Amino acid sequence: MAKILTVLYPDPVDGYPPRYARDEIPVISSYPGGQTTPTPQGLDFKPGELVGCVSGELGLRPFLESRGHTLVVTSEKEGPDSVLERELPDADVVISQPFWPAYLTPDRIRRAERLKLSITAGIGSDHVDLPSAIEHDITVAEITYSNSISVSEHAVMYILALIHNYLPAHEWVTTRRGWNVADSVSRNYDVEGMDVGVFGAGRIGLAVLRRLKPFDVKLHYNDVHRLPQDLEKELGLTWHEDVRSLAAAVDVLSIHAPLHAKTVNLFNDEMLATMKRGSYIVNTARALIVDRDAVVRALERGHLAGYAGDVWYPEPPEDDHPWRTMPHEGMTPHVAGSTLSAQARYAAGVREILECWFDNRPIRQEYLIVEGGRLAGTGARSYTV
Ligand code: NAD
Repeated sequence: MAKILTVLYPDPVDGYPPRYARDEIPVISSYPGGQTTPTPQGLDFKPGELVGCVSGELGLRPFLESRGHTLVVTSEKEGPDSVLERELPDADVVISQPFWPAYLTPDRIRRAERLKLSITAGIGSDHVDLPSAIEHDITVAEITYSNSISVSEHAVMYILALIHNYLPAHEWVTTRRGWNVADSVSRNYDVEGMDVGVFGAGRIGLAVLRRLKPFDVKLHYNDVHRLPQDLEKELGLTWHEDVRSLAAAVDVLSIHAPLHAKTVNLFNDEMLATMKRGSYIVNTARALIVDRDAVVRALERGHLAGYAGDVWYPEPPEDDHPWRTMPHEGMTPHVAGSTLSAQARYAAGVREILECWFDNRPIRQEYLIVEGGRLAGTGARSYTV
């Protein structure tokens, strides 16, 4: 029997379960392109429930315990006395979410002698040291597409919020009890007519491009895989052979590539200097793709007009992380991919993967990042080690 160690974000401060705003969520059975949503043999929660936090347990307990497995769920993931550190040495499976990542460092992987499967309840498995997973023959899988559309909606929201100066204007009428139209509009622009680009045009990046098309903007992208010509034509896309050319061409840049050896620290002082004065960056991919302090410097001297997103490093960030107080930011905690709709899909996807694993059936190719000691499936297409 297996021990499944699951690291999830803490419960809401007002207790669990919360009072839900809606009674149901839309039923979605497939994604753009035809991939089906997860197909587990059963489900022990109601879609729309908060299952991503500790008490929600991804709805896994009845299923795992009925099969005789042990489920440990915790949000304590840092420090030598944390539950994660204590339970890791004899865990067979680790489940973690990018929103509250259990960083599986080379050292932790070395000490996790029984670990054979690491599941990302969401998308983006950079919190697992992939070279170590490869070396130790650990399968790494994630729930591809489960929250891609959720994130694309957020990216569009961050773009509009930054360009229209939404958060400062909101603050004028709420926290500051004012009616300061001139103060609010002095940084309020239209996105119409702007050059908008995505770095990484995979599932999320392409969905962002599709959603922005009706805004009458000029769309650009850079990706190691060029999109089909008819799609470029349909969306009026300009493809850039390298990210530097993309960065220099756009007013707004939305980042959607995974974090790996070729994307780490890409947007540093030098890259930011190539962008037009007054550019905006939205980052819902991973914080380490940008240089934390270079972003702060660019905002402070007015080279960047705004920076928004939901990804930080580390997560959760320190109380004095400079992105909490930098000017012209639109930051949230890591929430884009954890909507209640997305949770229903990634929790179902985790269950599907576990069913396959315990029943010796193959895991869907599109869910795989590492298998058999090498990058596999989506991992082979989107990551490098
Ligand atoms: P995807 O695999 O469908 O797309 C990633 C794209 O990036 C691919 O087309 C790939 O070719 C491209 N790419 C990789 N390296 C590149 C490079 N060096 N230069 C240019 N392009 C490159 O993944 P996705 O579903 O679109 O997700 C993208 C990332 O978004 C995830 O890896 C994750 O880090 C992040 N994400 C964040 C949240 C959130 O809640 N904020 C949720 C889901 C995913």
